[in-house]
Amino acid sequence: NLSLKLDRAFKTLKGTGKITEINVATTVKEIRRALIDADVNYKVAKEVTDTIKDEALGRDVLIAVSPGQLLVKITQEELTKLMGGSKVDVNIKGDPAVILISGLQGSGKTTFTGKFANLLKKQGRQVLLVACDIYRPAAIDQLKVLGEQIGVEVYAEPENKNAIEIANHALDYAKKNGKKIVIVDTAGRLAVDEQMMQEIEALKKALNPSETLFVVDSMTGQDAVNTAKTFDERLNFDGVVLTKLDGDTRGGAAISIRHVVNKPIKFISTGEKMENIDVFHPDRMAQRILGMGDVISLVERAQQTFDEDEAKRINAKIRKNQFNFDDFLSQLEQIKKMGNIKDLMGMIPGMGKAMKGLDIDDDSFKPIEAIIRSMTPLERENPDIIDGSRRKRIANGSGRTIVEVNNLMKQFSDMRKMMKQMNKMGGAKKALGGMM
Ligand code: GDP
Ligand code: MG
Repeated sequence: NLSLKLDRAFKTLKGTGKITEINVATTVKEIRRALIDADVNYKVAKEVTDTIKDEALGRDVLIAVSPGQLLVKITQEELTKLMGGSKVDVNIKGDPAVILISGLQGSGKTTFTGKFANLLKKQGRQVLLVACDIYRPAAIDQLKVLGEQIGVEVYAEPENKNAIEIANHALDYAKKNGKKIVIVDTAGRLAVDEQMMQEIEALKKALNPSETLFVVDSMTGQDAVNTAKTFDERLNFDGVVLTKLDGDTRGGAAISIRHVVNKPIKFISTGEKMENIDVFHPDRMAQRILGMGDVISLVERAQQTFDEDEAKRINAKIRKNQFNFDDFLSQLEQIKKMGNIKDLMGMIPGMGKAMKGLDIDDDSFKPIEAIIRSMTPLERENPDIIDGSRRKRIANGSGRTIVEVNNLMKQFSDMRKMMKQMNKMGGAKKALGGMM
């Protein structure tokens, strides 16, 4: 199950306490496995995950608050890109415009033909369906039934065994009867065969369609990719219709097909009913492939670790150069909750540098916390008033040495200087972007 796998992948990344390049590599490997499980072809999955890895390392996923979230985002972006980025419309040109439907038998051509006609009809278009599956009388009846159901006329010549003739007659009929779009449903075979290819090629030549669609059953996995390749070599089709994307099918075929034939997917079919048709959106399919429902809850869990409001509040204070010891304490609390202390230190401007050389674990915060807690509220809010005598009192109160107190004061002052500098450069917001 894909979502479980991703869950595990992102846990690997979050749970080990340290986010390293090795963890990214492990996670990316899990993503690859998940993609392969979703029917993405191995080579494609490898290419995609290599890109994701480069992107992730380039974007400093290592210091992000929720690297899992960032990886999901990057993965989704890459998958979306792979599937063409944005939706591509069907070309409807000519009078009448001709749309040719191709594909293997059982792929869902006739069903799609009805669905597409229904869609166009709802847009107020004048559509004519043409039954060019000359081998099976039942196929003609099937289209007629669909046509009746959606209220679109079907042109058929049950006795004629010449598909090109039928289609040409249909075009004449369309012109005479004000039909603006002619959708030609064709015969398929159970497997790719030379006669079928010649027939559909000849039909395309004779009809000069503005759009040739290739319909493919997404459940056939790797076969779908090979079939698409063969059809494209012969037909040079314009777009792909992925059918039977209802149920459990994850849609990995969309990525593989797009990658192999480099033609846009234009529709997906998600059931047998006339309404079960959707325009293909690469970003939505990427979400589907990633099993976004589960991933989103993962992301939410990751976000819970870091209190967003608190992060915003602190960010505002940093920007106004008002960062004080209370904020410092609160940041320490947040960081402790998140676990990955050393890597996360880098997210607070100046903090990483100020703390350099410290061997950081939860315990190493204890002296710092003790010292800050020994300050009065007034001192925490106004670190500048902490003079020599106050430092002595704080050292006594916290059970730490005056040297330790001085060190903390120095580190804190360095941090604030760094923040001020970043504010001047306008960079604080950017540097803290991962926290928001
Ligand atoms: P054709 O031989 O390519 O014309 O395929 P058909 O349109 O006759 O479809 C073959 C079978 O698949 C029929 O039983 C359809 O009802 C079914 N079918 C078509 N599209 C879908 C779909 O998106 N989802 C599901 N579940 N079944 C579909
Ligand atoms: Mg059919």
